Amino acid sequence: MQIVRKTEELRNWREPLQRSAKRVALVPTMGALHQGHLSLVQHAKRFADVVALSIFVNPLQFNSAKDLDQYPRLEAHDLKLAEAAGVHLVFMPALAEIYPGINSPGAVSVRAGDRALGLCGATRPGHFDGVVTVVSILFNLFNPEVAVFGEKDYQQCKVIEQLVRDLHFPIDLKFAPLVRDSDGLALSSRNTRLSVAERAQALAIPKSLFAAKQAVEAGEKSAACLQNLVRAGLGELKVDYVEVLDVDTLQPLESVVDQAQLVVAAFAGEVRLIDNLRLQVPQSRGR
Ligand code: AMP
Repeated sequence: MQIVRKTEELRNWREPLQRSAKRVALVPTMGALHQGHLSLVQHAKRFADVVALSIFVNPLQFNSAKDLDQYPRLEAHDLKLAEAAGVHLVFMPALAEIYPGINSPGAVSVRAGDRALGLCGATRPGHFDGVVTVVSILFNLFNPEVAVFGEKDYQQCKVIEQLVRDLHFPIDLKFAPLVRDSDGLALSSRNTRLSVAERAQALAIPKSLFAAKQAVEAGEKSAACLQNLVRAGLGELKVDYVEVLDVDTLQPLESVVDQAQLVVAAFAGEVRLIDNLRLQVPQSRGR
């Protein structure tokens, strides 16, 4: 496994692959790797000859200095997991490598489209602009045939889909399913910041999502009823949002006709967690 920190080295790595028509898949991450990230690597292998993983904690997508400060950074752990997963190259750039203009006023950035407007975009202003800026830079540096993102960040998938379409990136986007811990909690780098008590409280998130899924399977269609069910299930947790959305446009739905995406953001202590689940009306009830 090659470890690269400089954009020039990255170009040197990329050029011969281009000449030999090897397909490169990029998996962008912020590190503190876990099985969720590694599932993206396995997904990437299905569509490419070579898998590159980037690890960069992107300050532009944090709107709280404390959150950025507390974000876990585990370089040795990450390199070990990446190597064991069969990653071919890890790109771990310093801030100035990614943002050469960071210290000069007026550096170029990218603005996310309208799918970034509600949900996490509302609670974390500027977050998705930071995401699409760094993802565009990574796309330009890697020129990958394939890029893989996780459905754990459902809105992010949709925002990046819009980025690729609107800025004409010639990239085959792939989304990999959300990976949960054995107790149901969605894997997240932020889980390392939960105390034992907070982690136990956080389990209310997947429990209430699955309760809503069961309710839909038993015939419930009203988005308001499903939201109330989830909010009640979240109990002590401070809720940021609970929404029942169109799976493509992310527009809120009044009722689940065929399918919907149930999305939640809530705080366990100070740690903001997100999760989501596909709701599917059983075939015979769909029409
Ligand atoms: P992050 O390091 O949190 O920025 O995440 C990097 C990528 O891994 C993103 O595409 C995430 O959606 C994805 N990811 C993070 N956690 C999970 C998970 N539990 N299941 C699937 N994908 C995930």
